[in-house]
This record gives sequence, C-alpha cells and structure tokens, in this order.
Amino acid sequence: MQKQAYDEISKEQVKNWDKKYLWHPFTQMKDFAREEPLIIVDGEGVILRDINGKKYIDGISSMWCNIHGHRRKEIDDAIKGQLDKVAHTTLLGMSNIPSAKLAKRLVEITPDGLNKIFYSDNGSNAIEIAIKMAFQYWQYKGHKKKINYVSLQYGYHGDSLGAVGVSGIDIFHAVFKPLLLKTFISPSPYCYRCPEDKDKATCSLECLGKLEEILSKNSDTIAAMVIEPLVQGAGGMIVHPQGFLSGVKDLCEKYNILLIADEVMVGFGRTGKMFACSHEDVAPDILAISKGLNGGYMPLAATLATDEIYNAFLGKHSEQKTFFHGHTYTGNPLACAAALANIDIFENKKVIEGLDPKIEALQERLEQFRDLKSVGNARQCGLIAGIELVRNKETKEPYSWEEKIGIKVSYEARQRGLIIRPLGNVMVVMPPLSIEISELNNMMDILYESIESVTETS
Ligand SMILES: *Cc1c(COP(=O)(O)O)cnc(C)c1O
Repeated sequence: MQKQAYDEISKEQVKNWDKKYLWHPFTQMKDFAREEPLIIVDGEGVILRDINGKKYIDGISSMWCNIHGHRRKEIDDAIKGQLDKVAHTTLLGMSNIPSAKLAKRLVEITPDGLNKIFYSDNGSNAIEIAIKMAFQYWQYKGHKKKINYVSLQYGYHGDSLGAVGVSGIDIFHAVFKPLLLKTFISPSPYCYRCPEDKDKATCSLECLGKLEEILSKNSDTIAAMVIEPLVQGAGGMIVHPQGFLSGVKDLCEKYNILLIADEVMVGFGRTGKMFACSHEDVAPDILAISKGLNGGYMPLAATLATDEIYNAFLGKHSEQKTFFHGHTYTGNPLACAAALANIDIFENKKVIEGLDPKIEALQERLEQFRDLKSVGNARQCGLIAGIELVRNKETKEPYSWEEKIGIKVSYEARQRGLIIRPLGNVMVVMPPLSIEISELNNMMDILYESIESVTETS
C-alpha cells in the first residue's frame, strides 16, 4: 500500500468534485451530500484504506464481488500481461485468446450440460440475455405463446428493464411497473416470516405448492422461471430451506418451463461450493454469473446455456435465426484474463476446500448475535450471513423504514473500521473468501458492538 494518504489540497478537491459531479447508484443524493464521503484510495487483502488514511475491513466484498482480496498478485499480473498484448478486440464475428480459454474453463467448472457461453459485462445483462434467450428459444421451437416468466417474491435480478421485470422487490421496482414484462410472482421461502405460518418442524415446502398452482394454470404461456439458488441476495439474504431448489427444478421439468439460475451473487464459492446449484445437484437450462467471476476486478458476466437451447438458434442464413444481442465490450480480453487467473487461484490454492473452518467460525459468531435484543434472525449460507434486526423479538415487529436502523448500524461500524451495507433492516455479512479467521473475528466484533450500541443504548 502507498505510505501516505492524499495530501490535504487534493483531498478536499476530490471530496468537492465527488459532491458536485457524481450521481451515486441507489443513493439519495440529498442525504449523501450532507455526509462526509468515504473515498477509497487503495487496498490490500480484505483491507481498504480511505483518503484520510483510515483502514476498514471490506465486509461486503466491494458489493459482493471480491473473492481473493484486493491487489491479488496473480490477477494483477494476468491483467498486466494481457495489457502488453491487447486491451480490447470485439467478439462480433471474430475472437480473442482469453475469451476462448475462459469459455472452456467455465464449461468445465459449471453444472453439467451448460456447454455454451455468451459474455456480457454485468449481472443485469447476464439476466437480460437469459430472458431473451429463453423467449427466442420457445419462438423457434414453435411455442409462440410462451412469453411470460415466473420468479420469486423478494427476488432481485438486476436493474435493466427486463431484469427488473422478473424481480420482486417492490421498493426498487414499483416505480417502473408500467414498463415491465408480465411476471408471475411465487412466494419466497422466507422461513423467518413464513408465508404459510409454518416452522422448521411443520414445514413440508408448502411454498412449492403455490408455485405449482401458478405453473399448472399458466405453463403454456410461461417461458422460464428465474431464481437465485439457495440465497435471495438483495431481497434480504433470504436463505432457502433444503430441497426448495430441487423442488423448483422438478416442477419446471414437469411443466415444460426453462430454469434460469441467477448465480450472479451466490456463484464462485460464496455458499461453500463453487456454484449454489451443486448443493442440490440441479443443472439449470441457463445460468447467469457475474460478480465473483473475475474476483471482483472488472465488469464481466456470462450467460451459459445447454446444447438444446443453443441448437435451436442454428439454421440457414435465409432463416435469419440469430441471437439478437451483443455488446461493444462482450468478452473483453482484460476481463477474461482476470477471470482465468481468478479460477486458477480457486484451483491452485484449494479455496473451496479451505472454506469449511471459516464457515464454521461465522456460524459460531452468529450464535452470539442471537442473544442481542434486536436480532430477530441470524441466517447463514456458506460465507454469507443476514442479520435481521427487529423492534420486538417476540412479535417480529420490524423497525420502521424511517428509523433507518440498518443505515445507523453501518455508519457506526464504519467509524469502528468496517464497511458494511444493509438491506433495509438486514445487516449483510459477505467478506471476501480469502478472509482469515482472525479478520473474520474482528469483523464480527465490530458488527456486534455496532448493533449493540445503536439498538440498546437509544
Ligand atoms: C447484483 C445482482 C444482479 C445484477 O448484477 P449487476 O452487475 O449489478 O448488474 C443480478 N442478480 C443477482 C442475484 C445479483 O445479486
């Protein structure tokens, strides 16, 4: 890391420029402009350092994408090496070495049957592509009425209009309603607030019954089901009960509907396996990946499809059967080189094999959080956790939106050297997989103290 933080003059300048010119994503700029901005200068491993020289643990993996830590030499070198060859060339009608190599690697490491890769540059696009692919597939197969989708309540699949159309988080999406696709929303298996009022002992996955009702009535108009396997991320780190995903897969097969697995967040080891689908031996028809794909270095995404889907697009020139999609930076060689280095680290350092002790450590630490007065539920899947804060533990009464409880806890944590970002009243824990157990303990200490100080002293 650089020894010095920014000098005083440039420091003030940068803060002013940020406030004056930058429009931040998902941010109320009126509030933001009043606060001292957090501006990162550099980082190493799980630590980020701001413009004032203060250090923080990156508890959100820089928005859920960093995997092996910052300034990871192998990935740095891979990008530098490719930069000495060529930074970008197009995949439209031609190819480049890193994108072809990466395509082969991805087919090898993803669930069986996904043999074709379509690149793009972010998770929303990976889903947009999946949705268009599914639609076009059915058109070519002669099922012209299959134009709708099914997804889960609280699902999040990105911000482009197609992706918003299959998402189920009202607060983000209500405003765009008039512009969106027709989507059937099935209940989320959100066990802490079970839609069927069951608990672990009485649950027999009734929520799958609701999905079956939708499918049995509408399967002739439904192209695909879109799902975040195992954990619904932006919806509040909702961890699904075992058997839900495979149940969904069975229903999709029964009703002749494609399954689109959105592993944009859960892919690349977050759940303890390379891909979440593998926990239940599910092979989707289409898989979307992005965030962890190149270790959190550069914008890159991929949509993988089966031969069955790919083959439906083959035909004579005169048939004009083409997948009508593509971006300027599709298959960018720098991003693909970084992704190859990312996968190499997984293999060379046996990253997945080394996760168990970390996952257990997180589990132990979460146990202690459950004693806090305001912690209604602390749920975990792999190295992902969601800690849901409630006003009343008995009744599960949530804190009201106006109380900004998640934001207050995050702000407190930031003062104490931890970057986290809440989802409403849910505190999200998602460190890089490379976090050491001692760092994980530091992170959980800070989070515990921050929750305690915000919710028990006011
Ligand atoms: C983040 C996310 C997306 C969208 O990815 P972007 O790169 O932000 O467009 C889609 N699906 C899931 C599950 C995500 O977590």
